[in-house]
Amino acid sequence: MRKKIVAGNWKMNLNLEEGRELVEGIMTGMPVLKENQTVVVAPPFVHLAHTAQQLQGQQSIYLGAQNCHQEKSGAYTGEVSAPMLQSCGVRYVIIGHSERREYFHETDAQLAAKVNAVLLQGMTVIFCCGESLEVRDANQQNDFVARQLEAGLFHLSAAQVESVVVAYEPIWAIGTGRTASTEQAQEMHAHIRQTLASQYGEAVAQNTPLLYGGSCKPDNAAALFACPDVDGGLIGGAALKSTDFLAIINAMAGA
Ligand code: PEP
Repeated sequence: MRKKIVAGNWKMNLNLEEGRELVEGIMTGMPVLKENQTVVVAPPFVHLAHTAQQLQGQQSIYLGAQNCHQEKSGAYTGEVSAPMLQSCGVRYVIIGHSERREYFHETDAQLAAKVNAVLLQGMTVIFCCGESLEVRDANQQNDFVARQLEAGLFHLSAAQVESVVVAYEPIWAIGTGRTASTEQAQEMHAHIRQTLASQYGEAVAQNTPLLYGGSCKPDNAAALFACPDVDGGLIGGAALKSTDFLAIINAMAGA
């Protein structure tokens, strides 16, 4: 059965104590999840070792990271490598978030190398894709997203793609309060699944979790997760408050 995932991307928010309180709140309110349902928390790097300790013994909450460098080690001041993340207990790594692409000028070639680095350490990639408002207004979103998938993922084997989750995050919906409608989300997710199927076959495509991200909140999560090709969410703002994040987790649990 395809995995369902709710992943919280804290971005550059919360100090160590605030992060500890947030995780405590999530653990306290966690519903019992089905075997195929998973929660991921992706705090800033400096939290990882602490959060890993806090999550010890948890059945369904996994540790995620927001980025990694593509090289294993070396003279890359300020960077963090995939083996380092793996040694902290990280299981999921977000690659290609639109903020990384835009503010840090991450290229398709770099992202493809980062994907390889994560997979080499036995971790799962959460690969982000999504179009700007300009691209959507020109009705070019399907080609744009297909090209992002091709550039970032299509060098992988079908076996490697089993360790990839795709997150569709339309840039115009991230942090804006403007969510994609359920029709827009379902249409794009079906397109992503079809694009994966054309490269890797129907079985791989049907097995790949596709998350929606972009102003996903307690009041719209259930409707989004009810779409047949939406397998959960990558959550930004609403992942910073345990009550909101738990409400979204509950929406997945009931979907
Ligand atoms: C994100 O940046 O991954 C995101 C989905 O943010 P928000 O939920 O705040 O729109």
